[in-house]
Amino acid sequence: MTNDVERIWKEIMERITTYVNSISLDSWFSKVTPYCIKDNSLVLLCKNNSVKNVLSTTYINELTKAVNLSRVPINGFIFITQSEAEEYSSEVDYEETVDNTNDGFSFNPKYTFEEFVVSDSNNFVVAAAQSVANNPGTLHNPLFIFGGVGLGKTHLLHAIGQKILKDDPKKKVLYVTSPDFTNEFVDAISSQSAARKKYVHDKYRKCDVLLIDDIQLLADKKYTQDELFNIFNELYNSQKQIVLSSDRPLSETQNIQERLVSRFGWGLSADIQVPSLELRLAILKKKAFSYHIKIDDNVFEYIASLDVNSIRMLEGMLSTVVFYLKLYNDNETNTKTQLELTKEALHSYNVKSSETLSINNIINYVCEYFNITRDLIEGDKRNKEIVIPRQIAMYLITVLLPSVPLDAIGKSFSGKDHTTVMHARDKISNLILQDAKLEKTIVDMKKYLENNYSIKV
Ligand code: ADP
Ligand code: MG
Repeated sequence: MTNDVERIWKEIMERITTYVNSISLDSWFSKVTPYCIKDNSLVLLCKNNSVKNVLSTTYINELTKAVNLSRVPINGFIFITQSEAEEYSSEVDYEETVDNTNDGFSFNPKYTFEEFVVSDSNNFVVAAAQSVANNPGTLHNPLFIFGGVGLGKTHLLHAIGQKILKDDPKKKVLYVTSPDFTNEFVDAISSQSAARKKYVHDKYRKCDVLLIDDIQLLADKKYTQDELFNIFNELYNSQKQIVLSSDRPLSETQNIQERLVSRFGWGLSADIQVPSLELRLAILKKKAFSYHIKIDDNVFEYIASLDVNSIRMLEGMLSTVVFYLKLYNDNETNTKTQLELTKEALHSYNVKSSETLSINNIINYVCEYFNITRDLIEGDKRNKEIVIPRQIAMYLITVLLPSVPLDAIGKSFSGKDHTTVMHARDKISNLILQDAKLEKTIVDMKKYLENNYSIKV
């Protein structure tokens, strides 16, 4: 169990080191030891009071981000110093976590059906998983779930396991990733210990439910595949539920014995599809709930519109945005909107909005940039503060959307003539050559639009 605590801390530190600098790591993070788990919080024993204070205030967001990005089964931290250590036993005390004698394996308490957001693009696979969880071993055996990375396969396997155990805590439910499964057999043979071999052999044959994640990783593992073949037959014949996940459909499975692949297809196959815009939005809103911060709707819409399919990636982006928003919320001089901060925060992810760039997007952006209204930019006012932005907008449209005819551009500015657009284009092209400041503005604006939209030529 102590191992569990250390494993969790190790996983958190692996995340933290990717975004906390090494001086902070040395000064603060190296001065704590993971102590135990209490009420689903990881208790951290700090070397002294200043370590405790700094970690619990300055670095709490980084720590929380690490929890959200990894799969550790905790939802917070308790910071203590040696004088408080006696109040905490170094026992693990999970409230919800089920440890069903699976060699210390614990299900992730966040990976339940209640936490899984359902919409059109995944309702079939969720219904299949729920049906198996409610009737293990009888209806659909095996259940084969496939889909791309970060789409929720592991979440569903944990959800099935936890639901079955909740209904009947006496059931022996085993969850294993394919690499762990392989390692267990390889270790057992190489240990030369008959007792160890028998233990591993019996463990899988005596379970009621076997959940194996990422079976594509069993490719070329001949010995493990032979073992799995025998285990499969025994469990199947005694109506024990088997659930498998893979990143590809059975028909595309490679280097797994044909006799196994055909058995994997005996029950029900369900694919987790790429999440629809609606699902991405719903997931973001649900996940944001736990951050206790009010987030504008247009922020959710923006993140959901990005060209990102992996839900794990979306979660990471949300956590980055929340971190950024909190940082600026506390800064009284901040005048930026949440949406602007979000775009800044996600800049380094380098993802484009899936929205295709349109004349409308360009005009809106130019208005936003120069802080003028749509009416003014489209209208006929001839003062310089309006004419230059209007001409820049026309110029950017001709450059970024070269296939749009000039008269169509003119029409978007309350019916102006194509010669007006031509004049604007030539004027800005000339001005850029003479005015370095204007040139930089235009280059920045162009870059922004190219980075934030997909451009169809
Ligand atoms: P996979 O195993 O397919 O790579 P995971 O099961 O690890 O993906 O899911 C990645 C992350 O996305 C997890 O944190 C999971 O909770 C979350 N997730 C995926 N799909 C959903 C969903 N429909 N609702 C809520 N969270 C989801
Ligand atoms: Mg997975």
